[in-house]
Amino acid sequence: IREIRLKSRPVGLPTADNFELASVELPAPGPGEVQVRNTWMTVDPYMRGRMNDVKSYTPPFALGKAMEGGAIGEVVASNDPSLKVGDLVQSMFGWREGFTAPASSVTKLETHGLPPQAFLGVAGMPGLTAYAGLLRIAALKPGDVVFVSGGAGAVGSMVCQIAKLKGHKVIASAGGAEKVAFLKELGVDEAIDYKAEADLTAALQRAAPEGVDVYFENVGGDHLEAAITVANPFARFALCGMISQYNATTPPVGPRNIILAVGKSLRLEGFIVSNHWDMMSDFAKDLAGWHAAGKLKWKETVKEGIERAPEAFLGLFAGENFGKMLVKL
Ligand code: NDP
Repeated sequence: IREIRLKSRPVGLPTADNFELASVELPAPGPGEVQVRNTWMTVDPYMRGRMNDVKSYTPPFALGKAMEGGAIGEVVASNDPSLKVGDLVQSMFGWREGFTAPASSVTKLETHGLPPQAFLGVAGMPGLTAYAGLLRIAALKPGDVVFVSGGAGAVGSMVCQIAKLKGHKVIASAGGAEKVAFLKELGVDEAIDYKAEADLTAALQRAAPEGVDVYFENVGGDHLEAAITVANPFARFALCGMISQYNATTPPVGPRNIILAVGKSLRLEGFIVSNHWDMMSDFAKDLAGWHAAGKLKWKETVKEGIERAPEAFLGLFAGENFGKMLVKL
């Protein structure tokens, strides 16, 4: 099988040269092990952090080794009674076409009628991130006006829809006219093309003259400053990510208006989805209900072949994806 290894650590925006494609022979599964042929893998913005050699909530990727991440595959050989050939499994052994590993390191996947790759997006980690960030961290309550940046991405497009399903006014931002059209398809009330706005704060003020009560932060920088300025007293900010800063080579400045957080009594709270896995069953139940009622929309941007995984990953920073960015193996 083929796998993608981290060849060198990027400085700033990663390039294709930071990755290498290698071939390996998979050993037959020993006792308690399975062999899996991956069919889908995900690329996610957080992986940029793992390319750096710094201590974080996930350890750095090792140089010269296969990278890691979410994947879905099919068992092709099993030496463990818990799994049989043909079973669908989810694992963290992405960035490779297949693997041999202990059966205990993979989870059997029940798709409940959804396409398997949905469990890397709308029904998986990104979906739960939207749900936990909005409902638990931002403590969404009736009447809140919601603003979400990165609204057309995997997490953002779910934030838009969950907030709309719960009856809120939703303002979302994304880059470009096509993404604005996608945001409208998702049902948001106001869509901001941040690439076309010289003054994001003014654009947000126009979109939300009544102010913003909940900000779901995916981008950082100007977006965070705009949200702080337009926030109503006691607004809650769920700090999910700040992708505009992941490739920064010098420490970014701001938010320059953070002092407003004092007078407005704002609450800014960061979170990592892995600390909110206890919400998965509630999320799965709500999701199944919304899906059955035909109320959920989602898009995927798919690249085919392991050799295109680096390109898919880099595409996240160029905004190539509508909804979830995936690699089909
Ligand atoms: P997305 O599907 O949203 O893909 C990334 C998107 O970010 C791109 O499509 C692009 O959209 C936008 N983007 C890229 N560079 C910039 C930039 N410089 N300025 C503004 N927008 C930019 O990714 P995810 O949904 O997987 O992740 C969204 C956010 O959530 C990220 O910040 C990620 O780190 C975070 N996250 C956090 C988790 C947690 O546990 N806290 C878990 C999962 C995700 P556009 O075309 O609109 O610019």
